[in-house]
Amino acid sequence: SPIIQAENLTKVYRSGKIEVQAVRGVSFAVPRGEFVAIVGPSGSGKSTLFYLLGGLTRASSGRVVIDGVDFATLDDAARTRLRRQRIGFVFQRFNLLPTLSAMGNVEIAYDISGQKEPMDRAYLDHLSDLLSIQGRLVHRPNELSGGEQQRVAIARALITRPAIILADEPTGNLDTKNSDAVLSMLRRSNKELGQTTLMITHNMEAAAIADRILQVRDGMILSDTRTRFASAPA
Ligand code: ADP
Ligand code: ADP
Repeated sequence: SPIIQAENLTKVYRSGKIEVQAVRGVSFAVPRGEFVAIVGPSGSGKSTLFYLLGGLTRASSGRVVIDGVDFATLDDAARTRLRRQRIGFVFQRFNLLPTLSAMGNVEIAYDISGQKEPMDRAYLDHLSDLLSIQGRLVHRPNELSGGEQQRVAIARALITRPAIILADEPTGNLDTKNSDAVLSMLRRSNKELGQTTLMITHNMEAAAIADRILQVRDGMILSDTRTRFASAPA
């Protein structure tokens, strides 16, 4: 069964008499291990979809089912637990804590996630190799380049071995060279570690590295296309 299922999802923002239908009846299913890009212009509903899929906001109607669990059936505490255990988040602005080293940022994310086992140092070494941030982990975010900060943020997202990575405009603040590096890292970690990856972007070139591209417009899915990277349908 699919690891992510969106069923007739809608989100309406209300302030006073004004209503904005940010997401309007979106349905799709993502099989385990797939790399999906969600592409659309500014205002098309991508961020709202990201918040819905990550359980960061409630749907107005419809359902988000993660690994068979419907977010709507969970209270806030259980929803937070599910999110911390199953989903790794990557944001446009990196969101690293400025007073901690890169290593400290990864460690605190691991501790907060409430895993039973202590952090696996060998796995962090493996991630650091994969992301080419060995030697950078002792530094604070302001001593790292944007590209390095984003790779640390990806290590932070991966350290709990989440089933799903949700990335919101991960290359939005990066130059072309660093964007390319971050995209190939996301692609590689998806392939080698098997995380299902959903990446929001307004950049069609970034989206082209995915297995599948969902184009959104006005809160709806305009097209659902498999790229040349897609493996043969099951
Ligand atoms: P970004 O991260 O792109 O700077 P935000 O996360 O602040 O933007 O918001 C994402 C989008 O949602 C933007 O298009 C913004 O205009 C819109 N938005 C955010 N908050 C509100 C609001 N209270 N009312 C209307 N639109 C909003
Ligand atoms: P995108 O990420 O594609 O730019 P958003 O999901 O941020 O799109 O926004 C979709 C629509 O919902 C836009 O019209 C935006 O202004 C509106 N919107 C987003 N967040 C809010 C909010 N918190 N309150 C009111 N309107 C919002």
